[in-house]
Amino acid sequence: DDLPKNEANFSALTPLCFLERAATVYPDRLSLVHGSVTFTWLQTYQRCRRLASALSRHSISSGSTVAVIAPNVPAMYEAHFGVPMAGAVLNCVNIRLNAPTTAFLLGHSSSSVVMVDQEFFPLAEEALQILAEKGEKDYEPPLLIVIADRSCDPGKLEHALGKGAVEYEKFLETGDPEFTWEPPEDEWQSISLGYTSGTTANPKGAVLSHRGAYLMCIHCPLVWGMNEGAIYLWTLPMFHCDGWCFTWSLAAFCGTSICLRQVTAKAVYSAIAEHGVTHFCAAPVVLNTIVNAAPEETILPLPHKVHVMTAGAAPPPSVLSAMSEKGFRVTHVYGLSEVSGPSTICAWKPEWDSLPPEHQARLHARQGVRGTVLEGLDVVSTKDMKPVPADGKTTGEIVMRGNTVMKGYLKNPRANQETFAGGWFHTGDLGVKHPDGYIEIKDRLKDIIISGGENISSLEIENTLYTHPAILEASVVARPDSRWGESPCAWVTLKPGADTSDERKLADEIMKFCREKMPGYWIPKSVVFGPLPKTATGKIQKHLLRAKAKEMEPV
Ligand code: ADP
Repeated sequence: DDLPKNEANFSALTPLCFLERAATVYPDRLSLVHGSVTFTWLQTYQRCRRLASALSRHSISSGSTVAVIAPNVPAMYEAHFGVPMAGAVLNCVNIRLNAPTTAFLLGHSSSSVVMVDQEFFPLAEEALQILAEKGEKDYEPPLLIVIADRSCDPGKLEHALGKGAVEYEKFLETGDPEFTWEPPEDEWQSISLGYTSGTTANPKGAVLSHRGAYLMCIHCPLVWGMNEGAIYLWTLPMFHCDGWCFTWSLAAFCGTSICLRQVTAKAVYSAIAEHGVTHFCAAPVVLNTIVNAAPEETILPLPHKVHVMTAGAAPPPSVLSAMSEKGFRVTHVYGLSEVSGPSTICAWKPEWDSLPPEHQARLHARQGVRGTVLEGLDVVSTKDMKPVPADGKTTGEIVMRGNTVMKGYLKNPRANQETFAGGWFHTGDLGVKHPDGYIEIKDRLKDIIISGGENISSLEIENTLYTHPAILEASVVARPDSRWGESPCAWVTLKPGADTSDERKLADEIMKFCREKMPGYWIPKSVVFGPLPKTATGKIQKHLLRAKAKEMEPV
């Protein structure tokens, strides 16, 4: 046809528009609950407009960056709307980082405002001190806003106020609740900046657009089957990839956010019983905590259906089956900050219903097929980028392309060149393609163990370790091996009540357990007991374990 594009009817895609709709359709419905503090959608809309207005009055606009250092509290949620409504880019900072790394992020992102939860004020203060001492030419101290929380130690709040920080509620009061905000002129305008959690190297800042965030925030709930008015528990940190874009999804689906400062199995079960939580997202490590909770911490059977979306690391099949035994409906997805969050889904097939639970869990632990907003997903040879055969055996790098892929890394042309080589986004994850088209991660490129020239998937060994009755958590890395170059070294933590009187004996017993279940060269030659270092999202920091293993005597 020769019809024109009808551009008069188009506007830039932005998730901000959902907030106005939620406030109009459900002004009195609860938008957010945080302890005894509750807000309705109308109040949330007004508070976000106040924030945007107050920021604008401080000359924050397109081109500015606002950093937030906070756990899952209302101000963190509001920043997801208020900051981009002022035209600025939101930079949520991982609260578990140390001061030098936080300083790096604040400096690299040129954040001109820092909103910080009172608990984390000392961290922000130290980070800003480091930046000031660096004395870079254009450095100007940012506007500091402290988020007060009644459940925390008032001393830190007083200290922050004494240092000239403005209290968040006071700051909101300076803003106009009727502030007129404009959608971005261009939907490719940046909405948020998320630094990778640094499980591999230096953090890199992935920049997402309004358009990508809009698509992801409606896509994710749709593939999950999340209904309008869902009661959503914030177990996943909002600072992690904007809570996989669920911050904006909640407005699109007019749901209610239940905030949690600290995630424990008991808090999760209580929120389900008390608030009627229907949905939550969590890394496998949280699921592991839930399935291993002591009986007095649980509320079982579950009072209603609870849907769980998991990603962030590979969920061991044993954890997936334990979750389903407890009555949780788990959806397994896979993604990265660079692609706005969950991008593949292990779509459940009706024909799997009749399979034995263990077989189901094995199929379900695969990372699956492309989600509906991803245009392309493939596993390609690391040498020539040719797709690997769908034989479930040949490994290659997982690559993606589509509308939710980031614009690029901030100020990092070299990383952008590598990451987008050949017109695809390179995930850095190694996987296989099964005959049914489902992909399965075998390892991160950097985590693969090469023993005597053979590749060993650390993940497969971990999955077996997770089936051992005494093991709570497991992580396998390469240790120097005088004969084979590298061999697997397992780091484990044990379930409460496990007999730890003789670690040597237990290590032997674990190796024997592995011998019955895997090829000889996969069996960990060493087993180390002790706590595992983790990122804020609960991901085990393998690079730290790898570094420790590297320093060990070769086996
Ligand atoms: P970082 O690279 O800093 O860890 P992300 O938090 O974005 O940043 O993590 C993305 C990585 O997490 C992926 O590259 C992958 O290795 C891992 N991951 C995420 N979801 C899954 C999953 N479902 N299964 C296995 N690994 C996953």
